[in-house]
Order: sequence, then structure tokens, then C-alpha cells
Amino acid sequence: MNIAVAGAGVVGVTTAVELKKRFRNANITLISDAFEEDTTSSVAAGIFRPGGDFTGPNRDVTRKWIEDSWWYWKELQESRNGAECGVTELSGYMFSNRSEKVVRNAHLEKLVPMYRSATEEELSNLTPQKWKFGSFYTTLLIDNTIYLPWAMKNFRQLGGEILHEHITNLQRLGSNYDVIVNCTGLGAQTLCNDDALVPVRGQVIKVDAPWIKTFFYADTETYIIPGFKSVTLGGCRELGSYNLDVDKYTALGIRERCENLVPSLKPASTIKTLVGLRPYRKPVRVECEITRSLNGKPVKLVHNYGHGGYGVTAAPGTALHSVQLVREVLSGNSKL
Ligand SMILES: Cc1cc2nc3c(=O)[nH]c(=O)nc-3n(C[C@H](O)[C@H](O)[C@H](O)COP(=O)(O)OP(=O)(O)OC[C@H]3O[C@@H](n4cnc5c(N)ncnc54)[C@H](O)[C@@H]3O)c2cc1C
Repeated sequence: MNIAVAGAGVVGVTTAVELKKRFRNANITLISDAFEEDTTSSVAAGIFRPGGDFTGPNRDVTRKWIEDSWWYWKELQESRNGAECGVTELSGYMFSNRSEKVVRNAHLEKLVPMYRSATEEELSNLTPQKWKFGSFYTTLLIDNTIYLPWAMKNFRQLGGEILHEHITNLQRLGSNYDVIVNCTGLGAQTLCNDDALVPVRGQVIKVDAPWIKTFFYADTETYIIPGFKSVTLGGCRELGSYNLDVDKYTALGIRERCENLVPSLKPASTIKTLVGLRPYRKPVRVECEITRSLNGKPVKLVHNYGHGGYGVTAAPGTALHSVQLVREVLSGNSKL
């Protein structure tokens, strides 16, 4: 049996590994035109934090994706591979002067080991600004600059194949495979002619500040997230922008907002400034489709794209769902 996974971001690589674990005798090929640090996934800070605008087809499926993802990352973090695969525990603060809703997260509150309101002392004295609302919690951080190479190596060791190739047509590719799992992120806009999928541009600055040990989120899309190799300063959300160039005024604004929040960042040197286009779709598309190749042969597709700003968080949950759909579509039990 021949199965292809299109796309090698966090969604595609996680899906490919899980397929290979479950279909041991199948040939699984991961096909992509960019890998590792050239993907949007590598721009992300990688904090596990599902937002309210992350939605599956219904509440139950959304909750299952998030729970499955949490336990997947948690198992990796607790395994002896934790540091080797780029997953660690991280605690920090969310502050807002706008609404208490900003600092609450129904999904996280049920999953993480600790989630509490910020104390009066923390609201008043932790940062130069005073805050009306705040929370402190422990979550996970997944550093894709470590996780993606680790998972690709794992995939190769399991016997998976890797192909560096640009895909222009999924139907044409389909004549070579029994099923294709489409994890092409924003690339699916063209490949599937999907207007519901839109970019949400983000820009971040990776700085050298090993003294920052906790994360901070605050109003106006400001965040400071310590990782394995650097601290990520953000950010912005520009819906519909395809601009992949660094904007120097956005960078200055990010620096200013982050330094106002945590003044000890001032001496931190910039390692690099990065831009990524979040593949946003409501709902995230995880479903089967059977189309026809040019010579009329049925082409079985399982789509897995559109995770927006939460693809690192939710990749394992949607990967496990896709694997289930592959099983159904191959056995002819798909609801299509
Ligand atoms: C600034 C920023 C910060 C973020 N922070 C977080 C965070 O803290 N937590 C979180 O959960 N998420 C975060 N995200 C979101 C997260 O990065 C994305 O949701 C996630 O990377 C999407 O993963 P993906 O695998 O679907 O897409 P991608 O990483 O974009 O991968 C798509 C893959 O498909 C390939 N591809 C596309 N089209 C084709 C084609 N035609 N032919 C061949 N290959 C193709 C690409 O080369 C690539 O390998 C952030 C995003 C940004 C931009």
C-alpha cells in the first residue's frame, strides 16, 4: 500500500509519523517543497494555548483534538526524549485591562497542572503597568526547530520516505498513491481552491535573553515566550496579508511593547526577525474527499489543514483524527 503525506510542517510531520506507526507495512512518503526551518511551523514560539477562534466541525471534536494533543505532547515531554524532541513545561502570566475573558481559557483550565488567578501583588507590581485581570498557569512549549528534525529522523528510522517536490495538483499525484493526506497549510488554498483558508500574518523577534524564564501575554497582541534556544517576542495578526518581508516598523513596535512589559529585555540582542503566515480556516478542515484523477481513477484524499495560530498546539489531535480517516477511507467505511 502507498500513502503520501503532502506538507512537512508540524501537522504533516506528526501525521506522517503516526501513519507509519500504525501502517507498518505500508510505503509512506512525506512530500513537501519546504522542510524544517523553511516552514511556518518553525516561526512559531510553540506554546500550547488553544484560542477561542480554533474550531473543528463541532465542540466535541474540537475538545477531542485539544485533549488528544495535550496528552501527546505531555507524553513526549515526560519521556526521556523530552529535551531531545523539543518539548518542555513552561509557566507564565496572561494580563489584560480589557476583559477577564482574555485571561481565561476553558480548554486549558481543564487540562494543565496549574491555572490560577493572578494575585493583587502580581497585578500591581510584576510589570510597570498595573492590570485589572490576570492569570498564571503552567503549560507546554514545543520548539519546532528541535521537534521537526527529531520527528523527521523518527519517521526515517521507522522506514518512511521523504521527497522534496512542489505539488501542483493533488489529483495528478493521486494516481501514484492509495490515499493522500493533505497537510499543506496555506498551500491548500491553491491546491484545493479553498477560499475559506486565509493567511493571518505574524512577525516575531527571536532574542538572546536566557534570564527570561516565564512567559508573558498582554493586551495588543504582545507576548514574550522563552524557548530552548531564544526568547520569542511578538507579535501581530494581520488577516489577509501575504507579505513575507520583515516590516521594520512592526519590529520596532514589538520591541517597544515587550520592553515596556518586561524592562529587563532591553539589553537582549536580536538573533533574527521572522515572518510567518498562519493558515487560518474556520473550521479547521479534517475530512475525507474522493475525487478523480485525469484518467478517471478515484483519488482518495484526507485533508488536515487550516490550524491558524494553533497548529503547534493541535497538530497531534488532528493527526490522530486523520489517521483514523485514512483507515476508514482505505477500508471503504468512509461516510462519503
Ligand atoms: C508568528 C507566529 C507565531 C505562532 N505561534 C504559535 C504558538 O505559539 N502556538 C501554536 O500552536 N501555533 C502557533 N503558530 C501557528 C502555527 O505556526 C501554525 O498553525 C502551524 O505552523 C501550521 O502548521 P502546518 O503544518 O499546517 O503548516 P506549515 O508549517 O505552513 O507547513 C505546510 C507544509 O506544506 C508544504 N507545502 C505547501 N504547499 C505545498 C505544495 N504545493 N507542494 C509541496 N509542499 C507544499 C510547505 O512547504 C510546508 O512544508 C504561530 C504562527 C506564527 C506565524
